[in-house]
Amino acid sequence: MINITLPDGSQRSYDKGINAYQVALSISEGLARNVLAAEINGEVWDASRAIQTDVNLKLLTWNDDKGKATFWHSSAHLMAEALEALYPGTKFGIGPAIETGFYYDVDFGDREFSSDEFKKIEEKIMELAKAKSEFIRKEISKSDAINYFQAKGDEYKLDLLESLTDGQITFYEQGNFTDLCRGPHIPNTGFVKAVKLMSVAGAYWRGNEKNKQLTRIYAVTFPKLSELTAYLELLEEAKKRDHRKLGKELELFTFSEKVGMGLPLWLPKGAMLRERLTQFLQKAQIKAGYEPVITPHIGHKNLYVTSGHYDKYGADSFQPIKTPQEGEEFFLKPMNCPHHCEIYKTKPRSYKDLPVRYAEFGTVYRYEQSGELHGLTRVRGFTQDDAHLFCRPDQVKEEFKKVIDLVLYVFGALGFENYTAQISLRDPENKTKYIGSDENWQLAEQSIIEAAAEKGLKTVVELGEAAFYGPKLDFMVKDAIGRKWQLGTIQVDYNLPERFELEYTGSDNQKHRPVMIHRAPFGSLERFVAVLIEHCAGNFPLWLSPDQYIILPISEKYADYAKNISNSLNNYDIRGLIDNRDEKIGKKIRDAEVKKIPFMLIVGEKESEEGLVSVRKHGEGDLGAMSMEAFAELIKKEITI
Ligand SMILES: [Zn+2]
Ligand SMILES: [Zn+2]
Repeated sequence: MINITLPDGSQRSYDKGINAYQVALSISEGLARNVLAAEINGEVWDASRAIQTDVNLKLLTWNDDKGKATFWHSSAHLMAEALEALYPGTKFGIGPAIETGFYYDVDFGDREFSSDEFKKIEEKIMELAKAKSEFIRKEISKSDAINYFQAKGDEYKLDLLESLTDGQITFYEQGNFTDLCRGPHIPNTGFVKAVKLMSVAGAYWRGNEKNKQLTRIYAVTFPKLSELTAYLELLEEAKKRDHRKLGKELELFTFSEKVGMGLPLWLPKGAMLRERLTQFLQKAQIKAGYEPVITPHIGHKNLYVTSGHYDKYGADSFQPIKTPQEGEEFFLKPMNCPHHCEIYKTKPRSYKDLPVRYAEFGTVYRYEQSGELHGLTRVRGFTQDDAHLFCRPDQVKEEFKKVIDLVLYVFGALGFENYTAQISLRDPENKTKYIGSDENWQLAEQSIIEAAAEKGLKTVVELGEAAFYGPKLDFMVKDAIGRKWQLGTIQVDYNLPERFELEYTGSDNQKHRPVMIHRAPFGSLERFVAVLIEHCAGNFPLWLSPDQYIILPISEKYADYAKNISNSLNNYDIRGLIDNRDEKIGKKIRDAEVKKIPFMLIVGEKESEEGLVSVRKHGEGDLGAMSMEAFAELIKKEITI
């Protein structure tokens, strides 16, 4: 008999050789039907693989990330089976699961391939899925494996085999298809109930452009047809919310090839929006005891040699700028931290002076490959809402609590209600790879865990995810359509204080190193605005909206009256514009809806005679006629910040 420990700590005894599926069946039939694979002592196994010793076991279903990954990777085998059936002679590279499904890199030989063939392949996949072919694991010797793929003429699998050791090689077979794979897989192809081929792209074998370019087919599968339908709807909705599309329609930002790739140009409306965000945070930060500082866009090479960035990233960053006379080397600033360390050093610090909090909306430049650039989320120049806190080890918890307050204030004001936090700690098995004393690490980790708990954050703790220089807390927000984004980081750093020899005098009159904390609630303004646009679909909270109203005169006769209204709303600090175009009122309303302007004020004969405005709210419709004072009141009420 062997003992199997389940995640809730309960233990069950079974005969040696039992598998995870049978364990599930002994619990409930419904559970067994949904088991895709199992985590055995932290490693994912086939649900059908025999267990010979006492183990910890977690059954994996579609609701577990690892279960989903197994499902999608198995679907890659299924797609390969379909491709081999439809296009005999196809050779196969690799077929991993990715975050949104899976792909397979294939060599069709001289055959032309396009997305026109997707439908045919999808049909074949579903036909093979219905056969419910089991995924059968076979241990195989290296020479037999080589013989198999030599006979098949698949040079890619032979290439993969070269780096594998005899005794560790497994084949998986389902239906008429055999693949070199270490597994694991789902029990049988029948679990796949829906498939969609998403796109096709070129991909060099092993990512090396000297090798042959293969065809990469991206696809996604689901255990229920309704899940595919919901997924496709989500993609449709995401397309409508794409910040690159809305950024253009709302005239917020643009890119110019002449200026350079990945360097956003903020248009007037976008610049004002960004300015409002900056002011909003600046105000909150000053209240929380931060002091603004300003540092240049470039820094001397020696600064980055000291910080360690030069050694680590120098070769992969924008190359240095040289002064013509002195031949000095400067780098575009990739981060603000080293500059802030130098500011800390400008005077002696006592334990009573700490914490010191320096904040800067600092623009930094990082080289990204052109293919990696994406709208405002991956750029080459961006502005961090950066701050560095220098404190004593015993102040870490209090500082974390204050930063968490600030982050939650920001999320609340911008309508992010759904968030979690990830706490990244040391790998307890491998403490030597981290810089800083064991005592300080323990204190900092404990401080972060307690601060998060006291602030009521929903957290997950990840061991071994900390940077070598300190533990951290990251916020993950879920947007309005359920997508997750990482925003806001609070990171402890023992490295830079060491490298810059930062000090304070303790109550014992001895010199000590302060703890440095990096933090950025937005992350960067660019990325944050992108996430915000996609979250609210361009319908910004009223306080942030570039224009809060637009006046729509029914004809040019009412242009003066419109001007009067706009002047008096100005006095109330309410901002907007007038649509004086010679267009029908219906068209003006439609255009204002596209621009997502929160309020439309229609003025014609009746309104001008009675001193009123007829108010329409974006997405809601007519609110009736009201006085200017009543409208101003309405706006003030909506602005809760
Ligand atoms: Zn596989
Ligand atoms: Zn920093």
